[in-house]
Amino acid sequence: PAYLAKRMQLIKPSASMMAKKKVDTLRSEGKQVIDFTLGEPDLNTPAHIAQAGMDAIRNGYTKYTATSGIKELLLAIQAKYRRENQLDFNLDQLVVGTGAKQLIFSALSVTLDKDDEVIIPAPYWVSYPDMVLLNDGKPVILETSGDNGFKITAESLEAAITDRTKWLLLNSPNNPSGSLYTETELGDILDVLERHPQVLLMIDEIYEHFSYEQDYVSPLAVDPAIRDRTLLINGVSKAYAMTGWRIGYAAGPSFLIKAIATLISQTTSCASEISQKAAAAALSGDQSCVRDTTALYRTRRDTMVDLLGKVPGVTCPRPAGAFYVFPDIQGLIGKTTPQGKTLGNDLDVVHYFLDAAGVAVLDGTAYGVPGYIRLSFATDLETIKAGCEKLSEACSQLK
Ligand code: PLP
Repeated sequence: PAYLAKRMQLIKPSASMMAKKKVDTLRSEGKQVIDFTLGEPDLNTPAHIAQAGMDAIRNGYTKYTATSGIKELLLAIQAKYRRENQLDFNLDQLVVGTGAKQLIFSALSVTLDKDDEVIIPAPYWVSYPDMVLLNDGKPVILETSGDNGFKITAESLEAAITDRTKWLLLNSPNNPSGSLYTETELGDILDVLERHPQVLLMIDEIYEHFSYEQDYVSPLAVDPAIRDRTLLINGVSKAYAMTGWRIGYAAGPSFLIKAIATLISQTTSCASEISQKAAAAALSGDQSCVRDTTALYRTRRDTMVDLLGKVPGVTCPRPAGAFYVFPDIQGLIGKTTPQGKTLGNDLDVVHYFLDAAGVAVLDGTAYGVPGYIRLSFATDLETIKAGCEKLSEACSQLK
């Protein structure tokens, strides 16, 4: 009998989670693997934040909390938006979730009716289309061009909007391309959305602090005109090296926040109180850890871009944000390996890199853009240098 729901046929396990499993398996077989698939900081959670978590356990903050989150954390989030984004939110316009991921899923879940469309620019974070499908919606993938830094334009957005469009889901700085929308570009996009009142805007700002060329500007600070239908998604996972604590937050109109909180109340009840206490310490404490991490990641980015730039067949732009490079590897496609196999696409290249160089990377196809690969530079400089060297050697053996 078919025990699993048909909707499970619509989705697949996340590509990055699968890659992690594969690397773990290879390592358990005793193989040396340099892992560039990581979607999380390699650093430990800063000591003062971890201490706040330990204090929470010791002092009995180990209970269910209010569905939307503890007041201390909501106040810290409110202060963060004022301090860093010049945005004012009331507490009923904020909600805490078990990671940004849960909040994105919940926002889609409380708004999508069958076949409602969600515009997702490619390349996209692998989970977006599957989350839309799980909620009976229709992902509408909006192609972008590498020449344009993988950013959508006002014209392409206008052409993609229909009567069924429910959301535009933007991610800036972007995973995997690292692209970051400028104020002018955001202004143009918001102008389009202003003309289409049926469309909500979700902006995933989880990589906000990993912005290397300019200060991050939130779209609501650019133009508040569609503020009553914009949802900001953020979290502490990346900025404070807290992926395992599972705390994200969302800010937006109270009707949406209230619906998300209702869904949380019937699914996970609330985020862990221990983690919420730690997240409050992260957001309200000394922010030098964030600045130090950004500086460290900038050096790593530059090293990786410079080294990959020397590899024949690989074109690697310098990403403005996040912690991934997304090089064009079309120059390798069609080449033959020493074993006589022709590399037919980016997935073949990924397998070749793993087999010939012991370097794990992710295929652009998983992110909706074939012909590219994603490498994370959230790892130490020695590993970056050793891995790029191995990739260079593997590429030089192609004919
Ligand atoms: N959004 C993007 C674009 C991501 O890349 C990730 C993690 O990889 C997340 C959200 C998930 O963040 P969280 O750990 O808060 O669920």
